[in-house]
Amino acid sequence: MTSGRSGGVLTIDLDAIAANWRFLKRRLADGVLCAAVVKADGYGLGAAPVALRLFAEGCRDFFVATTDEGVSLRAALSPSATIQVLAGVDPATAAPMLDQRLVPVLNHLGQIETWREAARGAGRALPAVLHIDTGMNRLGLPRDELARLSAEQTLLAGIETRLVMSHLVNSEVPGDPLNDAQRQRFEAAVHILKAGIGAVPASLANSSGIFLGRAYHFAMVRPGVALYGVNPTPGDPNPMSEVVHLTAKILQVRRVDRGETVGYGATHRLARPSRIAVVAAGYADGYLRSASNRASARLGGLNVPVVGRVSMDLITLDVTDVPEALALPGRDVDLLDSDYTAERLAADAGTNPYEILTALGRRYERRYIGAVS
Ligand SMILES: *Cc1c(COP(=O)(O)O)cnc(C)c1O
Repeated sequence: MTSGRSGGVLTIDLDAIAANWRFLKRRLADGVLCAAVVKADGYGLGAAPVALRLFAEGCRDFFVATTDEGVSLRAALSPSATIQVLAGVDPATAAPMLDQRLVPVLNHLGQIETWREAARGAGRALPAVLHIDTGMNRLGLPRDELARLSAEQTLLAGIETRLVMSHLVNSEVPGDPLNDAQRQRFEAAVHILKAGIGAVPASLANSSGIFLGRAYHFAMVRPGVALYGVNPTPGDPNPMSEVVHLTAKILQVRRVDRGETVGYGATHRLARPSRIAVVAAGYADGYLRSASNRASARLGGLNVPVVGRVSMDLITLDVTDVPEALALPGRDVDLLDSDYTAERLAADAGTNPYEILTALGRRYERRYIGAVS
């Protein structure tokens, strides 16, 4: 296939994202809510189109990382959607948080104080999520702050706690005893909070956490990566539908003699007379340099290895084994498809599929299947 565009094309199947959300939701008991995590611009795939589509499926709870992400998403989404901001609130973000009706995830007593002051200034109760640390040791209230909160209920004056959450460290490894330990610590924390401020709906599971069983579901689950087609059960077949297809164009095909090298640093030496296809995507497009000499692409259904270093705007593929009629300038190669997925590229590049997706570049033309407006 050829066309007038010069860059790659990233096709995002919103129908598949919707099917993935419904698939996860079906695993939950009646009444358990399935949120959608759309931080980092929907894991690089477009927070607004993803959230709009999931809203149409019935999803009402969305999580973003920052206030800025929340403000952008609010502009696209119905006022009846709840947008929760994982970074929480500080004195600089309290005003936009209020204006845009975003809900901060309060991670420590300082953020709680900021939101309490905001509520006092606004003259009304403001909604918030409380984040309790159960072992990640990253964001979230440590145990002593939780105890204080429960003992001194005035600390939460003017704050309407709509959810209490925590985050699993290693949920993609079902056998890790840390999962159960975190679940128990979380239950204990929810209990302490209940004694202080009354019962609050709880949420623990990310994508993989959903597959640890219903004991991990509580009142709401918060999947991200599985919505985007990544396997939440590594080791077992992927139950999710494939979402991402990425193609890029061949700019030039050259014959190179045996013994010559390809690309910067001469890191690949040809063992035979070869045909090399030069493709218009590089590390500036998020095609990681660590994929050099390790990843592969697909041309006419055949695997073609990336040879030589990934450079800023280009990669080089060995297409010697592909019929010449397929490997021509102007043709598209598949960089990500249902055979060579973000997981496969991540494994070859020495990273995880989250980094592959969130790195997907801004030069690609984005095409959405199943968009709602
Ligand atoms: C990113 C994130 C999620 C979603 O995690 P996935 O592994 O992508 O499903 C859920 N909760 C929190 C707090 C997160 O930061």
